[in-house]
This record gives sequence, C-alpha cells and structure tokens, in this order.
Amino acid sequence: EAYVKAIEAHNPRLNAYITVTGEQALAEARASDARRAKGEAGALEGIPLGIKDLFCTAGTRTTAASRILGDFVPPYESTVSGNLKRDGAVFLGKLNLDEFAMGSANTTSAFGPVENPWSRANDPTKRLVPGGSSGGSAAAVAARLAMGATATDTGGSIRQPAAFCGIAGIKPTYGRCSRWGIVAYASSLDQAGPVARNVEDCAILLRSMAGFDPKDSTSANVAVPDFAAACARGVKGLRIGVPAEYTLPGLAPEIEALWQQGFAWLKDAGAEIVPISLPHAKYALPTYYVVAPAEASSNLARYDGVRFGARTAERDSDLRDLYERTRAAGFGAEVRRRIMIGTYVLSAGYYDAYYLKAQKVRALIARDFAEAWAKVDAILTPATPTSAFAMDERQDDPVTMYLNDVFTVTANLAGLPGLSVPAGLDGQGLPLGLQVIGKPFDEETVFAVGG
Ligand code: GLN
Repeated sequence: EAYVKAIEAHNPRLNAYITVTGEQALAEARASDARRAKGEAGALEGIPLGIKDLFCTAGTRTTAASRILGDFVPPYESTVSGNLKRDGAVFLGKLNLDEFAMGSANTTSAFGPVENPWSRANDPTKRLVPGGSSGGSAAAVAARLAMGATATDTGGSIRQPAAFCGIAGIKPTYGRCSRWGIVAYASSLDQAGPVARNVEDCAILLRSMAGFDPKDSTSANVAVPDFAAACARGVKGLRIGVPAEYTLPGLAPEIEALWQQGFAWLKDAGAEIVPISLPHAKYALPTYYVVAPAEASSNLARYDGVRFGARTAERDSDLRDLYERTRAAGFGAEVRRRIMIGTYVLSAGYYDAYYLKAQKVRALIARDFAEAWAKVDAILTPATPTSAFAMDERQDDPVTMYLNDVFTVTANLAGLPGLSVPAGLDGQGLPLGLQVIGKPFDEETVFAVGG
C-alpha cells in the first residue's frame, strides 16, 4: 500500500511508470500474505517490484515505450518476470524506457521523458535525465517507487541509469538470464538484469531472475550460485585490473578522482591493483553502433501492422502501403534512425565494409579481455563519463548522446558481466558510479568486489 500510494503521489512528476497495476498489485500482495501465513513464502515473497516495459507480462500491456505496441497485451509472460513471480514478487507496474530500449537518457519514449529524482524539485528549469534506456527502472528505485526493478542492457542501459540515479545495477553474463519474452533490440547483446538500492539487493534479485531456459537458444545451462553470499566475501588476494585505455582525454577530474578512490578502497581491503591493456577498447563504441542497429533493423522488421500491435492503413492500402504507413506512424525518430543505419550497414554494397568489419573488431575486443583474465580477476572502470545531464542537453546531436556508453558497451560486445556501484557524488551533489567487469559467469567475484 505504501508503494502504491508513493507511485500515486510522485509518478505524475517523475513519469517512471507507463502502466500502474494498483488494485492488481494489492491483490497480489494479499495472496502473498496468505502464502506467508501458510508457511509457503518464496525467496521474494511480497517484495514490490517494477518491471521494465520491455518484458512481456501476461494480461498486462507491454509497450516497449513505442506507439507501435501502444495497446499490445501479451498472452504470455517473459521467463525472467515469470521467475520473479514464481518466487513471490509483487508487480507494481510497467516502467518507462527509451523506445525499444534505444537511448541513453529516457527521452525517446513515446510516453514522455522520465525525470531523475535527483533533479532539484525547486528548480523546474533544470530537470535531469535518469539515463537510459532503463530510466524508469532506475528512477523508480531511486525515488522509492519500487524496492527493485527489472531492466535490460544492450550497451549500458542497466549500468548507466543506475549510476545517474545513485543505485546499483548489474548486467550479467550473456546467457545468464533468458531473453524469452523480452522485446528484442539487438539479440547478440541484450541481457536482462536487476537494478536495486544496493549491490546485495541486486544479488538477491539476480538469483531469482537467472537460470537456464530451453526457450532461449542462447540461454546458458550453468548453475545459479548464491550471489548474495558472494557480496560478503571480501576482496583479499583478488587482482583488480586498471585498463590504461579507459583514461580518456577530457574525462571529468571528479570521475578520475573517484576511480582512484575506488582503487584505494580495494587496496585497503587487501586487493592487488594490476595495470592491464585493452588495446581495441577504443573501437568499442563505433563497433557497437554498427552491430546494434544492424540487429535492431532485423528484429524490428516484425512490426508490420499485421502480426503485432498498431496498424495504420487507408481503405485502398495495398500491403506495401500498409507497412509504410504503420511503420512511419508507429516508430519515433531515434528508432527510424537505427533502422536506417542498420539496413545500410547490412546492405549488399556495404556489408563487408561495415558489418563484417565490426564483427571482426568485436572478436578482437573479446580477445583483449580473454588475455586480461590471465592477469586479473576483475576490472574496475568508471560507469559513465559524466553525471546526469539536463533533459534539454544533447538532444539534437545523436553522436554526443552515443558517447554516454563509452565505458559500458565493451562488456556487451564481449558478453561479460558488469556491475554499476553507487560510489560517490560530484561537485553538484549528483551521484556517480563505478563499474566492475568480471569473467564470463563469474558474477560472484563481481559481487565480491562491488559489495
Ligand atoms: N544507449 C545505448 C543505445 O542506445 C544502449 C541502450 C541499451 O543498452 N539498451 O543503444
């Protein structure tokens, strides 16, 4: 009840939820009480969570923050949200995001932007972005409109909004969480994960979300350990890598200082700091912005006005006209830009020059990490190059917006787990995060370092 009331009071300003379940959430909570009374409580019994509106929820509208899915009610539940339900979680509603998870500021949603709760309420001219694409998830958790939330991360969409909102978030190893029932953006990069107030809550949520699923052919059949126990392990004897290439020219001095502080904390706790090199990291951003739009253009071909969602047609429309009208009316500007980039880099004349080249560079980036793991157990980097920026900034220049992801996309290209840990404040009092990157399926060490 407290969460439902908090949503009523604060969502009109923050716009973190697209759909609020209200009465349905309270009914779920009563059912949860009844299970608890019978001694049948699950691991997350009664915990009120928000669900990013990219996860299909049976009987509850799932929009991907797009007009084209504006009234889509899935008949099925995503595996990840189903796993949370199985363990007793209560769903408060569906959380806002960038349209089809494409963005870094939650400003491309067809349902309006999300406001970062760290914005100064007394200065309406300086409304800050919560980061993206999981801006609704991060804002809701930071504003206490949910105890935790699901999110997805294709190039940073869990870790960057977590950093901007002063909370924790982990993108697990590719294959750790099933992608089944999550609206696809770029399938070889997409991973689900939790955002929560602290690292331990993320560990508890991830344990429920993760697990092998035969319905996703890239789901990994590996055991799901007790991640929460790993948070208390400490870092004694661990080797933590500092990649030389991440010291970017123009990196804010406050972020550089926080990064150094992070190494000092780990050293004090008994870790060894080891310099490493990831020579191809500088190509990660352009590689990502070829691969992700290519896969997106293919995934989004299904929104044709026939199989899913909204249709726009005239009485005399033929099939091609129906496709064109539906997609022109249904997709926002950023989604159309990604589709155009994606179809361009995949087209016959340009495939070798862009897409194939990007795939080769991707392999080199992954190899850099594989070599680093011979020397270190985890890597520490800043989570973002800046703190949260104003809503009207960077909107007219997509390339500047893409630079937000410079520290996060490498983990997606290499399939590695990455955790964003709230670590300090900048001079304006805004939160900053540090990122811990780990070996494939070694989230436990990542949690040990973050915890
Ligand atoms: N900002 C990146 C993009 O727009 C990452 C988004 C994401 O991780 N879903 O593609």
